[in-house]
Parts: sequence; structure tokens; C-alpha cells
Amino acid sequence: MAVAQQHPVLIIGGGIIGLSIGWRLAQAGQAVTVLERSEVGPAMLPAATWASAGMLAPYIEAEPGEERLFSLLRESHARWADFSQELMESSGIDTGYRTEGTLVVALDRDQAERLHHQYTFQRRLGIELEWIAGPVARQREPHLACNVLAAIYSPLDHQVDNRKVLIALRTAFLAAGGILRERTTVTEILVDRNQVRGVKITSGETLLAQTVVIAAGAWSAGLPGIPREARPPVRPVKGQMIAIAMPEDAPLVRHVIWGRDVYLVPRRDGRLLIGATVEERGFDSHLTAGGIYALLRRAWEILPSIDEAPVVELWTGLRPGSRDDAPILGRTPVEGLILATGHYRNGILLAPITADAIAELILTGETPALIRPFGLERFHPTNPRQVSGASSEDQLG
Ligand SMILES: Cc1cc2nc3c(=O)[nH]c(=O)nc-3n(C[C@H](O)[C@H](O)[C@H](O)COP(=O)(O)OP(=O)(O)OC[C@H]3O[C@@H](n4cnc5c(N)ncnc54)[C@H](O)[C@@H]3O)c2cc1C
Repeated sequence: MAVAQQHPVLIIGGGIIGLSIGWRLAQAGQAVTVLERSEVGPAMLPAATWASAGMLAPYIEAEPGEERLFSLLRESHARWADFSQELMESSGIDTGYRTEGTLVVALDRDQAERLHHQYTFQRRLGIELEWIAGPVARQREPHLACNVLAAIYSPLDHQVDNRKVLIALRTAFLAAGGILRERTTVTEILVDRNQVRGVKITSGETLLAQTVVIAAGAWSAGLPGIPREARPPVRPVKGQMIAIAMPEDAPLVRHVIWGRDVYLVPRRDGRLLIGATVEERGFDSHLTAGGIYALLRRAWEILPSIDEAPVVELWTGLRPGSRDDAPILGRTPVEGLILATGHYRNGILLAPITADAIAELILTGETPALIRPFGLERFHPTNPRQVSGASSEDQLG
């Protein structure tokens, strides 16, 4: 019979969310183990972190009706510079954090009108943006198509190299004393009398824990053993991506560029990422001719100079989408079972705030005010915790 081992905090999933929470806990001296079924790196695909574009862009994506999410995104954005610096110091790995900003371009009258509406709305929110004419956009990015009519320049929408961040997090987490078990799949979450007891893993071992964090991205809802009332409503949303090689001595663009249903993200290593489709296909992660064609056509319309560029990689990723596109953070009705999932299109941006807030919840037993609107209760309005106002701040143990 397999011997049960004691682990105070277990985190399921070694993507950016699981590893950054683990890093914060380990830094605080908390014993913590991250369980990842793959190896941290390319083998994780189609998990979202390796697949991502790494944009830290709360401003240009701000939309009516998403004010709550916007404040969380903005708060996390404000923490990124320090998060990146600390990560670089702890790991010795450059995270590729870049602050040139983002240009959103319009190619015809219709697009320009729509873009101007967006600009007016976002300016009303107090966002720092600049409306620029096509020729000015081309002065800043000479390879842009000559039919670019107008653009928004957003100086505060930044980017980071998500793959380097993940490798840096792995290094920093281990250096801080965290335990990482790769090639370890959680096969069941163990719950007894409404208290989490640990997990079972593929080897047949049982790992005991008083606190288990679900950070398994698009797979979070399907983990066996989660009681129905604690299950996060998360589903996979597929994104196809392309990387082409830019000439090393003369990168085609310096800013992140957005067009209609496409974005282009230049990396310091000379790659230009082109993304991404948004598809509801369950766990299917195939590349498709139609998806790749659409991305390349839209990218080519904005930046015809990509015509000769070698394609160096094609991949798909599965975003963990929630019902309202916002993350699901905090306690569940099961004592000790914590959610950190559903980050959808913003999981890279939201990593610093998620890590700080979930670590604080685990270490103090208090749910930080910033993440209270993002609890599981919002999908289960009849949850007794919420209706009775029963103390949801009791200790996690
Ligand atoms: C194409 C694309 C572009 C994106 N662009 C951006 C962007 O520009 N900016 C941004 O902020 N966000 C972006 N996102 C979203 C962002 O990548 C995600 O929100 C974020 O990576 C989610 O991180 P995660 O750690 O929750 O999930 P993941 O990275 O998916 O990690 C979950 C991990 O859990 C592991 N796991 C699953 N089940 C088990 C199990 N049973 N046992 C053990 N381990 C398990 C998986 O192997 C996986 O490694 C993009 C996503 C995609 C797909």
C-alpha cells in the first residue's frame, strides 16, 4: 500500500499561476509543493502559459461593462515592473519585459470610426492614450502598410516574454525552497467531511495537505474529486499562434501592434508572434489551415514586409475561460480548497496580483479585498457562505 506523505500546501498546475503563487509562499517560508503533469517548458503545450503572447495590456482592451475586472488588471499591471525585477534578481533570467507600448491601427474608414469610439471611451476612463494619424504611425513604425489611416498609441500597454518568465519562476521557486514535482498528474482531490485532505497522483501515492490550490488552467473543472459546489466553471478556449523570424539587425517593429482580430508582438530574440484565434473547440488543440491563413492574411495587411519572413513555429494553446471572462480566485465551500483559475486572456498580466492575493489568503486566512469580487460565489448565488454572510474568513489551517 502506498505510504501517505504530509505536505502543508499543494498546488495543482505548474503554469504561471501555480508557480507564482508557489514562489510567493516559499519566499514567506511556507512549505509548498507544485504538482505539474508535464515538464515546465515546451512540453507543457497546449497549456496556456507556454502558448501565450505575454502582453500586459489592460488599457487598450478596456471595454464597457468590465470595470471591476479592469481595476484588477490595472492593479496587477502596476505590480509587473517590480515583479519582473525581483524575478530577474532571484533567477538570473531576463524576463524580456518591454515598455515601448502598443499601437492599434485602422486600415479603412470603418475601422478608424470604430477605433475612435474605443479611444473616446477609454479616454473617459482616464487612460493615457494618443490618437495619431497614419503618417505619424508610419514614422514610428516604418514597415506599417501605407493604407494605415489612423492609430491609437497606448504607452502603458507593455509586454513580457512569457516563456522566459515561466523558466525564471521555476528557478526562483526552487531557489526559495519550494518543491516541484514534474511529470506528476493529480488523479483525484481528496475531500472528507467538507475538508480537503490532499490529492492522489499517478504513481498511486497519496499526498496529504490541509490546503490544496487548483491552478490547473483549462483543466481545472475536470479534476476528479472536486465536489460539484466547489467546481470552477472553466472551459478551454483555443488560440492558434504563429512565430516568424524578423531580420536580427533590423526588427520589423518595436511596438506591439494590434489590428482587426490580430496582434503582432516583437520579441528581443528576433521572433515576431502573430496571434491569436479565439475558438470554442473543447480540448481539441489542432492547428487548422483556416486559422493560420486568417492570422497570416490579417498580419500581412498590416505589415506587408512579413512576406519573405521564415515561419519558425506554429502552436495552439488552451486559455482557461470562465463564464464572465474574469478569474476565479479564493475559497470554495470545501475547507482548504482554494481556486486560482479562469484567467482567460489575461493570466500573464494577472500573475502578480493573483500570487500576492492567494499567498496572503493562505498565510493569513483573510481574503484580500481586491479579489473578493472574483470568488466562486458569484456563479452560485445560493451558496450558504454568501447568503448567510457566514464567516468566510475562518482559518485555513
Ligand atoms: C494563444 C494565447 C495567447 C495569450 N495571450 C495572452 C497575453 O498576451 N497576455 C495575457 O495576460 N494572457 C494571455 N493568454 C492567457 C494566459 O496565457 C493564461 O491566462 C495563463 O497562462 C493561465 O495560466 P495558468 O497557470 O492558469 O494555466 P496553464 O498555463 O494552462 O497551466 C496549467 C497547468 O496545469 C497542469 N495540469 C493540468 N491538469 C493537471 C493535473 N491533473 N495534474 C497536474 N498538473 C495538471 C497543466 O499541465 C498546465 O501546465 C494567452 C493564452 C493563449 C492560449
